[in-house]
Amino acid sequence: MTDRVLVLNLGSSSLKYRLLDGATGVAEATGSVERIGEDSATLMHSVGGHDHTEERHVTDFEDALRSALDAFDRHGPAIDRDDLAAVGHRVVHGGDLFAEPVVVDDRLLDTVEDLVPLAPLHNPANLEGLRVALRLFPDVPQVAVFDTAFHQTMPEHAYTYAVPVAWREKHRIRRYGFHGTSYAFVSRRAAELLDRPVEDTNLVVLHLGNGASAAAVRGGRSVDTSMGLTPLEGLVMGTRSGDLDPAIHGHLHRELGWSLEEIDRALYRESGLLGLAGANDFREVTQRRAAGDEAATLAFDVYAYRVRKYVGAYYAALGELDAVVFTGGVGQHSAVLRAAALDGLSRLGIVMDAQRNEARSFDARFVSADGSDVAVLVVPTDEEWEIARQALAVVRGAQ
Ligand code: AMP
Repeated sequence: MTDRVLVLNLGSSSLKYRLLDGATGVAEATGSVERIGEDSATLMHSVGGHDHTEERHVTDFEDALRSALDAFDRHGPAIDRDDLAAVGHRVVHGGDLFAEPVVVDDRLLDTVEDLVPLAPLHNPANLEGLRVALRLFPDVPQVAVFDTAFHQTMPEHAYTYAVPVAWREKHRIRRYGFHGTSYAFVSRRAAELLDRPVEDTNLVVLHLGNGASAAAVRGGRSVDTSMGLTPLEGLVMGTRSGDLDPAIHGHLHRELGWSLEEIDRALYRESGLLGLAGANDFREVTQRRAAGDEAATLAFDVYAYRVRKYVGAYYAALGELDAVVFTGGVGQHSAVLRAAALDGLSRLGIVMDAQRNEARSFDARFVSADGSDVAVLVVPTDEEWEIARQALAVVRGAQ
């Protein structure tokens, strides 16, 4: 019996894939197709330490997936379709319908289609990926793993917005949360590091990547998270604003005559670090800050302060806290951000160790001082492995 899983992650114009062992996480190959549908797409297939890159036109998702399979044929490893336990798909929005991963069938496709209004940028691409993969791998079980699923355990008072009942009941307006596969993976790893069962842990997990969110996780289950109906709410991100006064939409519309599409675009694509400092890459922001750049300093301060506020809020939400856990590109690699976010919180039992925090490492590790009541951890996330692991569990459970 094989544990091999092909994980597919389709964005609005890109495909990322990884062939890996769902039990051990060991990858055989990874790759991506960027700029699908544009004049020239970049295809990258990485195997055995070699990157094979080419540029050519890729018409649509089917063409992209066929190109990926072609790369497996040419550069290896061979994917014998009898030797795949599952294809695991990242699906962004499962609404309040999916708390677990599920095997893909026609009914599921219809349901994901019904959820498109909740995630108009992401779910259509995910849906297309599911359809194409069903055509190309008709005999391999396909499993959908939802970004929102982990947060379905949030209590009603945490996911409810204070809006009229009709909005909530007819239009599904509530907080859903995202980055769920990352939180599932990181919470389990954090518990291992703390050397206790995940059921006995209270964690604030900070997933700080290009997109960024925070979650309060009690006993391995989400009790609150900073992203809401959409992935715009919460922390400052690369190009997204995070929290703001909801009346800003109306204000911009009245004052500048902007359409809703223009306002959405500005808040999703032109705000966050990009809006504050003119750069969405956190490395560039920190380098410019170190050189005394004022806009980069403000961007860093706004970002770190927002993280700090959520740590405080989720500490209170949980009532007791075992660890603050950093993950994502920024969380894993920026010692200066971790220090700025948690500096001066010894009265809350959070004491960082400067040397541990600044040590360069790719391993899961403690960065708090030995006497700190609350541990501070850095745990590299691995969303593809989590998708593969969950897909494998569903397939094995169904056998
Ligand atoms: P992700 O979406 O998880 O890949 O994270 C991307 C973000 O992590 C980008 O803003 C990067 O600039 C940031 N990042 C990656 N490496 C570093 C680093 N060494 N120091 C600071 N930020 C980093």
